[in-house]
Amino acid sequence: MTLPTLVESLRTQAGLRPEHPAVRCGPHTLTYAELLAAGNRVARRLRAAGVRPGDRVAYLGKESERYYEILYGCALSGTVLVPLNWRLTAVEVTHILADSGAALVFLESAFEDLLRQVDEAARPPRHVLLGEDRQDAYARWKSADGPADAAAADAAVPGGTAADLVEPTADTPVVQLYTSGTTGLPKGVVLAHRSFAAVRTAMAEAGVDWIDWRPQDVSLVGIPGFHVGGLWWATQNLAGGATIVALPAFTARDAVLALREHGVTTACVVPSMLRLLLAEPQVEQADFSGLRKIVYGGSPITEDLLERSLAVFGAEFAQIYGLTETGNTAVCLPPADHRPGQPRMRAAGRPYPGVRVKIVDEKGAELPVGRVGEVCLATPARMVEYFGLPERTAETLVDGWVHTGDAGHVDEAGYVFIQDRIKDTIIVAGENVYPAEIEDALEKHPGVADAVVVGAPDEHWGERVHACWVPAPGTPPTRRELHRFLSERLAAFKLPAAYEEIAHVPRNPSGKILRRELRDRLWAGRDRKVN
Ligand code: ATP
Repeated sequence: MTLPTLVESLRTQAGLRPEHPAVRCGPHTLTYAELLAAGNRVARRLRAAGVRPGDRVAYLGKESERYYEILYGCALSGTVLVPLNWRLTAVEVTHILADSGAALVFLESAFEDLLRQVDEAARPPRHVLLGEDRQDAYARWKSADGPADAAAADAAVPGGTAADLVEPTADTPVVQLYTSGTTGLPKGVVLAHRSFAAVRTAMAEAGVDWIDWRPQDVSLVGIPGFHVGGLWWATQNLAGGATIVALPAFTARDAVLALREHGVTTACVVPSMLRLLLAEPQVEQADFSGLRKIVYGGSPITEDLLERSLAVFGAEFAQIYGLTETGNTAVCLPPADHRPGQPRMRAAGRPYPGVRVKIVDEKGAELPVGRVGEVCLATPARMVEYFGLPERTAETLVDGWVHTGDAGHVDEAGYVFIQDRIKDTIIVAGENVYPAEIEDALEKHPGVADAVVVGAPDEHWGERVHACWVPAPGTPPTRRELHRFLSERLAAFKLPAAYEEIAHVPRNPSGKILRRELRDRLWAGRDRKVN
């Protein structure tokens, strides 16, 4: 299978539809021709600044049309973009900058202070500042007179030669994304161009299109661009000639405004964004008739949230499941499987053409249909490696299979059901309890707006189920009511031993519940054995 690189896809679209808007962000628009031209300028300036192919280039800023200029600039220059989550602390940013050894950082001025707090040794030797307006240092840097062609750029690079400037292939690394660290210290996942082309190309070859990308689409990128989901969604739309709408930071209000202002037809979000949108008063009056498709994934969705979303938005829904390590989605639940009440609506989906799934036990032996074990995925979109961590790479990537760390099973038709992360599984007297299942059941209670369930230490049973819940507006239910409600739906060993009312569920920007924060409090220094 020949896979186009990000560079080839952009050039193709810039040739086909040069004047068509590629990226919109608030009042700013870049056409395909402008995006390619800006990408080329960034690439030349990077070379002139001495940044070589294979070097890491960091981006610390919110999303804008310029983020995409820089992404394609890196792709065109053979450098590897390391986009940072701007919500991280200086300690976390220090870890990522030191680990990646970034040669240059594109820095939004709002985060200058953050960079100042980063350990000096980790700070990249050069930075380019992006300001509020579009006549800033970055604009000047980008258009500065400098070597205009590759050969001249090489001449400006100490020791550089024209041979350095090679056209990327599908296997050339293009981004390095740090997993959010909900399970430990962030690791740099290196993804090559193939991760952004494999699924689309395999579907096209097999004659299916579960996502149904269309060039006339205007697509909201809800998931931030420093996550694989956001990058994947943006690049798929750009490879297909559509227009993407970038949001500097997701808020329900901004998303509703953007839907209206730009005539959005498709969107890619994490479940927690759907939750925020449903709680936004403006949503009630908003007209969603132009919105034809919502793609969601990145964390488990509760049945209640999915059914409410289907009813309110009236669009088609498709679920995606995958990891940064699998180059985003490996499994998809197409719109046709979104029928409330059908058991398959609880599935994460089925593998795309060219992707294989197997379920294994703790010893790595394959389990039959219906048995729960670790989900393993073989996909042509998988990562190259964890940067600088060969041992961790070998643990996760075994004979081409990505070990996901997720507990799940497949049914006889090959649909994949995700129970939860193995590390989040609560073991009550030897029985596995999956937090997502209890959260799902709790949320069906009209008095519960949101919920998170974790394991707490228990002298007798090893662990017990601890439920935290956020009350919905109105009279809150009593503990007894909640317990009775759950008893009708769940086996006795799954029932929470404690119900704690909380103000909000802690989540990271990709919508993942930060269970560790709650667990740390409950375990207070005690060791939690992870199976
Ligand atoms: P870390 O591995 O450090 O905790 P992370 O959680 O951010 O970082 P990602 O690659 O962003 O890593 O997330 C992948 C995980 O997200 C999957 O392993 C799975 O647990 C969860 N996930 C993604 N999509 C879905 C989905 N559709 N349904 C259920 N869970 C999902």
